[in-house]
Amino acid sequence: MQLLKLTRWPFAGATLKQKPLLAATDLCVKCGLCLPECPTYQITLNENESPRGRISLIQGWASGDLKASSSLHRHIDNCLLCRSCESVCPAQVPYSKIIDEFRSLAGKGPQRAATKVTMLASRAILVNKEISRFASRFAAFARSSRLLAAISQKSHLARQLTTFLSDFQPHTRRKTFYPAPSTKKGCVGLFTGCTGELFDTETIEASIRLLGRLGFDVWLPPEQSCCGALDLHAGDTKKAGMLAAANVRAFDRPRLDWIVTLATGCGAMLKEYPAYFPQTEQLASKTVDICQLAREVIEDRQMALQPLNKTILLHAPCSLNNVLKTADAQKALVSSIPGATIETLDQVRCCGAAGSYMIEHPEMASALRDNILKIARATRPEYLLTPNIGCALHIKAGLKQIDMAIEVIHPIVLFERQLTSGRTI
Ligand code: SF4
Ligand code: SF4
Repeated sequence: MQLLKLTRWPFAGATLKQKPLLAATDLCVKCGLCLPECPTYQITLNENESPRGRISLIQGWASGDLKASSSLHRHIDNCLLCRSCESVCPAQVPYSKIIDEFRSLAGKGPQRAATKVTMLASRAILVNKEISRFASRFAAFARSSRLLAAISQKSHLARQLTTFLSDFQPHTRRKTFYPAPSTKKGCVGLFTGCTGELFDTETIEASIRLLGRLGFDVWLPPEQSCCGALDLHAGDTKKAGMLAAANVRAFDRPRLDWIVTLATGCGAMLKEYPAYFPQTEQLASKTVDICQLAREVIEDRQMALQPLNKTILLHAPCSLNNVLKTADAQKALVSSIPGATIETLDQVRCCGAAGSYMIEHPEMASALRDNILKIARATRPEYLLTPNIGCALHIKAGLKQIDMAIEVIHPIVLFERQLTSGRTI
């Protein structure tokens, strides 16, 4: 890495747009406390692959000392945005905002053509409902014609993609309103998430049933859209802002007590809208993760649960640990299932999924996932629970590759299965 000048006039060389970014990078005191927490640094032991190194590179670029070379971009793009560094930083450096701002000003580095096409197709499928319906039908055809098996032989990326396609679920038409079947406690809006609609309808359906049993009317505004995290972290702040505005309009109903999110990645994004977009405070303040809400309501009135004498491996995604910070509620909810042996994955930093990272950086994503697969081999659980659909798909793909038959589901799915008739005790 080129050494930064130690004595420079503050902000000299920075353009007007780069000055706030430069000021944010200057908050880093280069103490290095974040290095042991950084998954990419721990694997590569390369300072340029650490939070401190990346901040220095961006600082160099924003001050005009460094050019936005492909190698500079590569180090920034290799960041998972897991935000483990932020949670230990004594100087409270706004690391993820620095990366997002850098990408919005300088863009992302060059990508392989196959990755580019895959990313464009994935975005279109996630954001456009017509395209997602077509993709769902194509996936069903590809499965039945053994096309997927043939494609999966081609490369690492193809193998990863075909595993995802095999998880694609048929389009489900849902009602927009599910009244609470018994005594009404309140009304919630359910944020289903674009990926959840395509890959995890089981979690959506279990959540509607559970929220109803907890006494909530459940409302699913059809105008809701993708949370915008993929676009924001790719540097497209404008597109992310448009998606945020669409969600604000979709959930703008005064009688909603909560806006319940199912994937922690989406929940983290909705909670952090106000840091990026105006007029999103109300939506953010009503946003709550399903496990946290269920835990709080159930604590008030214990519900009967069927025992489950099985081993559960419980995963807490980075978005839960480092942004929502409600991993305890998830653990308490799952631990309330009688008879279950809970093993956590707390010693694993990041599974490597990280939104689109698993498609853009399949080798690093797979190296990080290996830590989870090792623990799965050692503990031989019947279930692996994770509350983020991206992590679930990535881990599921890894388990499939090593022929381990473990059911990978959202914690709320298992919890809802174990609820008996709903009698209070
Ligand atoms: S912990 Fe914070 S201040 Fe210290 S090097 Fe890392 S980002 Fe910079
Ligand atoms: S966000 Fe995660 S991968 Fe990126 S620098 Fe911080 S700890 Fe490392």
